[in-house]
Amino acid sequence: MNTVSRTGVLGCGLMGSGIAETAARRGVDVLVVEISPTAVDNGRRRLLASLQRGVDRGKLTDSEREQALERLTFTTELGDLADRELVIEAATEDPGLKRALLRDVDKALGADAIIASNTSSIPLTDLAGVTGRPDRVIGLHFFNPVPVQPLVEIVPALTTSADTVDRTRAFAVGQLGKTAIHAPDQAGFVVNGLLVPYLLAAVRMVQAGTASAEDIDRGMELGCAHPMGPLRLLDLIGLDTAEAIARSLHEEHGEPRYAPPPLLRRMVAAGHLGRKAGRGFYTYT
Ligand code: NAD
Repeated sequence: MNTVSRTGVLGCGLMGSGIAETAARRGVDVLVVEISPTAVDNGRRRLLASLQRGVDRGKLTDSEREQALERLTFTTELGDLADRELVIEAATEDPGLKRALLRDVDKALGADAIIASNTSSIPLTDLAGVTGRPDRVIGLHFFNPVPVQPLVEIVPALTTSADTVDRTRAFAVGQLGKTAIHAPDQAGFVVNGLLVPYLLAAVRMVQAGTASAEDIDRGMELGCAHPMGPLRLLDLIGLDTAEAIARSLHEEHGEPRYAPPPLLRRMVAAGHLGRKAGRGFYTYT
């Protein structure tokens, strides 16, 4: 199986920066594409801070950080992706945006290249269908923070070829060192199908005044041995991303347990998006 030596990452927010960092630390050349010079600066800053945290915590040496940085390049031009063998899309969870982006990326890439999307909830078969390479589009769903969380879900579209599944799995497992599970192309895949109704139930408890965010989180951490309670986890995921995922799940399955509660929608409207905005269910400095 050929290894991937040049990858592209679209979007350098929470997930894109983590994916780019992980690939660069594992020896892969990474080109990161963002929408504007400001977004490039923010993404680069996020990535540098994460690498520094890795050094401070003894997870990598100064020289490993420098080597990772040498493998990372940033651009705002999709045309620069022409020599990439595998591109991972980690842009905002918005179906229209992702469709338009994948259509353009498809034109920029060589014929054999794979497009993997990190979408949490948008059907891969829909995304594959907007490209001229529906057999070489696949879901590769990472978990936050990517350098730390070992899991990826591999989600073939109905049109994805067996060769694309094999090459993507070899990249994720063999090169990035992740553990992969196979997930169906339905909103929520495996993990979010279980996790999102639980997170939304916690928001409904806060909304109804049943318990405070602190008490709900403490309850699940100390009573159920979860490393992080549901509201702190929502702050980490990003409330806008969580709302978008809930909407997709609700649209696909039509069940009330997937509907984003009014409190979540209001917090997103207010810009209280969680840790990345400095304020969500908790405040962050
Ligand atoms: P985010 O808001 O932190 O980052 C999204 C980034 O995409 C932003 O930096 C934005 O500038 C960039 N972007 C927007 N349009 C773009 C374009 N046309 N080209 C290049 N970049 C563009 O969001 P995130 O949490 O990193 O989520 C990204 C993807 O990962 C979503 O599909 C989300 O569902 C998925 N995901 C998120 C989590 C999580 O915990 N947040 C976990 C797994 C998967």
